[in-house]
Amino acid sequence: MQKSLRVVELECKELKNKQKMTRIGYSDDREMVWFRCQGCGMNHAFPFATMMRDGLIPQSKKKKTENNSEPLSTAPVEYSPSGVYQVGQRIHHAVLNDIGKIISENTANGHGKIVVAFEKSGKKILVHGLTTSLEEYVNQ
Ligand SMILES: [Zn+2]
Repeated sequence: MQKSLRVVELECKELKNKQKMTRIGYSDDREMVWFRCQGCGMNHAFPFATMMRDGLIPQSKKKKTENNSEPLSTAPVEYSPSGVYQVGQRIHHAVLNDIGKIISENTANGHGKIVVAFEKSGKKILVHGLTTSLEEYVNQ
């Protein structure tokens, strides 16, 4: 039942020659792939990119990682003071004609504020969750 493990030949870092190695896992950031070396018995890590290029690991693993690490790559939502937004969300501001990512959110004096890092305009504090527009006031 170990069919998912793959044995490949790689340069052993101890013996300085090619040895059979069994893929045992990935580093947390998925930049490295760990193999158990059948030559020296130790574990060796190899760069993910090289393994991918040489076809020694399945392609699907990296794709999944990229999706997980880039959950914010979806289209930005249109900003409105009456809208409600969350940290990490990307918004488009029509007046600034700019796209920004919400880096913090807090509610004070009864209404919410979001701090947005805009691509062109830099950091701005905007209101959200309002029933009337305070946009011009906030943008002063
Ligand atoms: Zn080795």
